[in-house]
Amino acid sequence: MNVYLDHNATAPLRPAAREAMVAAMDLVGNASSVHGHGRAARQLLEAARRDVAALVGAPAAQVIFTSGATEANNLALAAAGGGPVAVSAVEHESIIGAGQDFVVLAVDGDGVVDGDAMERTLATAAPALVSVMAANNETGVVQPIGELAARAKATGALFHSDMVQVAGKRDILDTAGIDLISLSAHKIGGPAGIGALINLGDVDLTPVLRGGGQERGRRAGTENLVGIAGFAAAARAAMLGRDDFARLAQLRDRFEDDILAAIPDIYIAGQGRPRLVNTACLALPGVTASTLVMSLDLAGFSVSAGAACSSGKVERSHVLAAMAAPAWAAAGAVRISLGWNTVAADLDGLVEACVRLYKRAA
Ligand code: PMP
Repeated sequence: MNVYLDHNATAPLRPAAREAMVAAMDLVGNASSVHGHGRAARQLLEAARRDVAALVGAPAAQVIFTSGATEANNLALAAAGGGPVAVSAVEHESIIGAGQDFVVLAVDGDGVVDGDAMERTLATAAPALVSVMAANNETGVVQPIGELAARAKATGALFHSDMVQVAGKRDILDTAGIDLISLSAHKIGGPAGIGALINLGDVDLTPVLRGGGQERGRRAGTENLVGIAGFAAAARAAMLGRDDFARLAQLRDRFEDDILAAIPDIYIAGQGRPRLVNTACLALPGVTASTLVMSLDLAGFSVSAGAACSSGKVERSHVLAAMAAPAWAAAGAVRISLGWNTVAADLDGLVEACVRLYKRAA
């Protein structure tokens, strides 16, 4: 079996999440029922809310469970009430594809939103809501989210941040000025199909899914208790596993140092800026992303082309385009992303496999 180096696409299920899900499958109660079975389900639901809230240091009551971060992002954008929304140029497809007209916040060559430029854009566009992700899924580049939130709030806009990639990979210590946060279970070792919107600012949300009164009327539909139990267990494990940040940073940095030494004209996105410890986004001169992904697959490594997350197709990355990366780098970028079960030996042979391809292309 290949070594799995695609944690930013989805992380392998953590054993604790699997156990919690199997146990939750035996609960028959609907959390809205008042009988004993229902109360047991409610208890699990509310305990899970506390575990997920702890990921971002929020009160449990502010957690709204959703079917994933795509729904959480859609629910957040709906808070603009149809008014103008400003989003960074490097947002995930679940934001930029949500069917709204956006004012786009430009990024610099490393993919970071410039606070001064943002302020100028907000002054003319006067958006009701600003959405900037905390870290990018393709490059791992981290935004100065506290500063951006404060400056956006000063204009009277709501501030939303997609924190899907940050959770479990970096401490989320300061959420001042942030009204809404999106999270997804499957990026931290929980199951796919469950996520949350954290309503830190007690925003008056317009439900996207209407019907029953679940999640205090903000998200109708019987709660996915099995998924929620897996999400909570993964959140607990991720919080306990924070010692891992330094270990992963070391593995990623050693890999980048080695490949840079062997291929000096390699492109590494955002290398000089604060980045997630687990992510390397790189391109080799003369090697297309699809060739690199397929060749590494044959060499025993599962990695992704930057933007292949949803479609399975290798398309030019809008993230690297927004960063004005050289055309060859945008066409060749692949993402290597480590995670909770990655060990040093997993990376053995990866640099050599890249060097072979690079030499063949030269
Ligand atoms: N935002 C980001 C940054 C992501 O990486 C992803 C997953 N690709 C999502 C949102 C969507 O999350 P989900 O799969 O839970 O809908």
